[in-house]
Amino acid sequence: MNNNKRVYLDNSATTQVLPEVVKEMQPYFSEIYGNASSLHYFGREAKKALDAARAKIATLLNAAPEEIFFTGCGTESDNLAIFGVVSAQGKKGHLITTKVEHHAVLYSFQHLEKLGYEVTYLDPDKSGAVSAEDFKKAVRDDTIFASIMYANNEVGTLEPVEEIAAALKEINAGRKNKIYFHTDAVQAAGKIKLDVQKLGVDLLSISGHKFGAPKGVGVLYVRKGVKIEPMTFGGGHENGLRPGTENVPSIAGMAKAFELAVDNIEQHHKHILSLRESLKKGIVEKIPEVVINGSGNNAVANILNVSFHYIEGEALLLKLDMKGIAASTGSACATGEPSHVLSAMCVDPVAAQGAVRFSFGHSNTQEEVDYVLSVLPEMVESLRAMSPVWRGKK
Ligand code: PLP
Repeated sequence: MNNNKRVYLDNSATTQVLPEVVKEMQPYFSEIYGNASSLHYFGREAKKALDAARAKIATLLNAAPEEIFFTGCGTESDNLAIFGVVSAQGKKGHLITTKVEHHAVLYSFQHLEKLGYEVTYLDPDKSGAVSAEDFKKAVRDDTIFASIMYANNEVGTLEPVEEIAAALKEINAGRKNKIYFHTDAVQAAGKIKLDVQKLGVDLLSISGHKFGAPKGVGVLYVRKGVKIEPMTFGGGHENGLRPGTENVPSIAGMAKAFELAVDNIEQHHKHILSLRESLKKGIVEKIPEVVINGSGNNAVANILNVSFHYIEGEALLLKLDMKGIAASTGSACATGEPSHVLSAMCVDPVAAQGAVRFSFGHSNTQEEVDYVLSVLPEMVESLRAMSPVWRGKK
């Protein structure tokens, strides 16, 4: 492979905007640029695009268009779901989430703790999955809300969302005050078929830039009848739940990107899975003392999280970058702290420091994987040569 070529293996951080999506968005910048709330032709045309996007996304999620609310990103969808539902209940109560959530959820719950709510953070097993049994045990008479992610952003592990929703249905049947259930499906959207009826959740968040749409646009699905309040105030956009002039080009692009992702879901899954397995097999065969974090089977196909013992993940990222390869350390390693996800999974702190996340997209190729495998062992070896512990073992 030509060394000027770049290999992008950070698709869980964000994705390339697809050419079909750019084409879909173009008219809403330059021709149909009206404010969707305006009464004139330009506004009406923009409103048509908004309605069409809402209807398309609703169909793809098996929801009704009135249950789809456009937001500014996945983080905003998560925050609106959590704070919007919790504050609408009108009283303080108990909340349930997990220790492996994205910070958009985790920090929201930590903030609610400061406001006087009690939160149970469920522990995951070694693969990163929490259990429906533990969830049921955590439910209390004063529980009002729960949020459990669908696919973990660092290790890809799937949480038992459908099982928990089914358990909650039974629990709620015998209660006066319903426990509302939200899932952060940001890393699952476009990789796993999402059907809100089958899943049984009350609220679900997705983010366009994770599946080929631009950054800065998201969706919150809110089941009809859920008690929720706005968290920002202004115009009556999005049925008053999320004021602010809608980003019509990005919303149209997100609907197109979601449609493309869902239409090609099986084909992309097969391709991405084969690349991930090829990289995993190559790493395990060529490099000693590595650990794969997460289960692999009960997970989205596009994430491979590997701990390289005796090195810092960040140092390896720099070396990879010098060879044109983009990967990531997951989330929190930038601060020098081991990731909260790997810590919760009881990954040894030293191994957690050496963790790197490779995340695939459908345009990655086997040639790119072969290229990574041709340069990675030597990089790891050179970094390990600086570790006294590693040298002592040799
Ligand atoms: N939730 C999960 C699981 C994520 O992976 C991310 C982004 O990485 C977010 C929420 C936040 O989404 P956004 O970047 O659109 O704010």
